[in-house]
Amino acid sequence: MTNSSDTLAVAIDDKPRDFIREIIAVDIDSGRYNEIVTRFPPEPNGYLHIGHCKSMCLNFGVASEFHGRCHLRFDDTNPTKEEQEFMTAIEADVRWLGFDWGKHQYFASDNFEQLYNWAEYLITKNKAYVDDLTIEEMREYRGTLTEPGRDSPNRNRSVDENMGLFRAMRAGEFADGACVLRAKIDMASGNINLRDPVLYRIIRAHHPRTGDAWCIYPTYDYAHGQSDAIEGVTHSLCTLEFEDHRPLYDWLIENLPTPSRPRQYEFSRLNLSYTVLSKRRLTQLVLDGHVTGWDDPRMPTLAGLRRRGLPAAALRDFASRIGVTKSDSVVEMALLEHCVRDNLNKLALRRMAVLDPLKVVIENYPEGKSEELEALNNPENDADGTRMVSFGRELWIERDDFMEDPPKKFFRLAPGREVRLRYAYYLTCTEVIKDSSGNVTELRCNYDPATKSGGSPDGRKVKATLHWVSAEHAVAAEVRLYDNLFTAETPGAASGNMLDDINPDSMGILSNCQLEPALSETAIGDTVQFERQGYFAADPDSTPERPVFNRTIGLRDTWAKVQKNQG
Ligand code: ATP
Ligand code: MG
Repeated sequence: MTNSSDTLAVAIDDKPRDFIREIIAVDIDSGRYNEIVTRFPPEPNGYLHIGHCKSMCLNFGVASEFHGRCHLRFDDTNPTKEEQEFMTAIEADVRWLGFDWGKHQYFASDNFEQLYNWAEYLITKNKAYVDDLTIEEMREYRGTLTEPGRDSPNRNRSVDENMGLFRAMRAGEFADGACVLRAKIDMASGNINLRDPVLYRIIRAHHPRTGDAWCIYPTYDYAHGQSDAIEGVTHSLCTLEFEDHRPLYDWLIENLPTPSRPRQYEFSRLNLSYTVLSKRRLTQLVLDGHVTGWDDPRMPTLAGLRRRGLPAAALRDFASRIGVTKSDSVVEMALLEHCVRDNLNKLALRRMAVLDPLKVVIENYPEGKSEELEALNNPENDADGTRMVSFGRELWIERDDFMEDPPKKFFRLAPGREVRLRYAYYLTCTEVIKDSSGNVTELRCNYDPATKSGGSPDGRKVKATLHWVSAEHAVAAEVRLYDNLFTAETPGAASGNMLDDINPDSMGILSNCQLEPALSETAIGDTVQFERQGYFAADPDSTPERPVFNRTIGLRDTWAKVQKNQG
């Protein structure tokens, strides 16, 4: 063993333990492995989503905690759905999440020749055969969960005949789907995966990496475990739906001269309320135009969540809180939101922005004058310091911070009432100006110069503090608001069609927002807090003249409430 158990104990003691980590710790202590090797094996047929984040945090996480390594392997065995665009996006997403595969990037397709040779090896051992039953016939012969299958009439072909046919498959002598190579295991097995599973099928499709070199492609079950073995993976961690495939995984490893002996362990996949986490369904949302693309900020993809403004650290925190188990469950969206707020509350800079502006004219403030007032960048972090914000005679305030005829519990601005302007002065509304149809268009106010920085020398109290932006200095911007993409906790649960539960109001655009000028310098991808409103991230659609912000999330945390209701 190269790792002393001392360093390991330190490395893992402050991490949450789960059954996978326990298994690995035992394997290291018993000396079964010198080095732990895991892999994250995306199929490049779509973008990564938050479910993949769970898998990455586990695979890269245990590798680093146990001083091993984690490979990035593209599981590129089905050329009909896989694209280079997806590989590029996947690499960027893994890096963004904070993980590094070093030089260990692999492609299942790099193993095509080896996999083919091992298929011939199985044929020579009389453990694989070419079958030309039609798909329907094969299904019929396979049997059901309660009935055993029946042997295919082709099951007893000779080794030579199988070899000839398999080589002819590779040479392109048969049409797509004309025949397959199957493992010869047991048609009566209680596990359907062992009823002579398909190892190779004929598909004439251009592969992003091997081009037209092949017209036969290995199945997932055949390629995956053997790729693990070739790479020296020790613990092949996958989701529960592969539990029934494990006997096949083991059968193949046992019956092939693989260079190592990986083991598969299964954990439950992440399900999240109010969204879908399956690439098939996400692809449908993109292709049918229900969203603007894979990186639409409403999508649960890493690209979408990043554009929405979720920090990678918040996603890692989320993964660590949900943990790793073997029981299927649906995680509340509110937990993810809680992690995001928790992270952003500590890190996001505070800024002032008025989303729905109403003009205020301060009649006793000198015309042409303006001044700079000091504002805190982040009350949660002194190191973020302060900035200066411009104040003047004309301001924007939030339209719903004013009511002409306020009900009892409304403490914000109203005729004759005094409020505080954040980092500035007390302000009293003296007159309401309306257009011909009665809409409030402007407020006339007075300020008290003695209340600079928000306190009153005579101890006068106000019940509300409003955010504001100087009209002369403000930058106009577009702000995009988002809500869940689906209205049902489990989209499609009632009707079987997720589109029946799509939220028609999942996006709203505010096109006349007024921002303090510092906000036009927000880097794309940075998330800030608009005071009293929530967290917002600068969108790549921004131009120097017109910033665009996405609302990441509002300020109110409902997670504690959810917990209480359930407890
Ligand atoms: P999908 O069902 O979305 O198509 P997949 O499993 O086909 O997902 P892959 O690209 O094959 O997608 O997945 C790569 C890895 O991520 C696999 O090990 C898979 O088990 C894991 N993974 C995928 N979805 C989830 C999820 N929701 N929760 C946890 N792990 C997941
Ligand atoms: Mg898959």
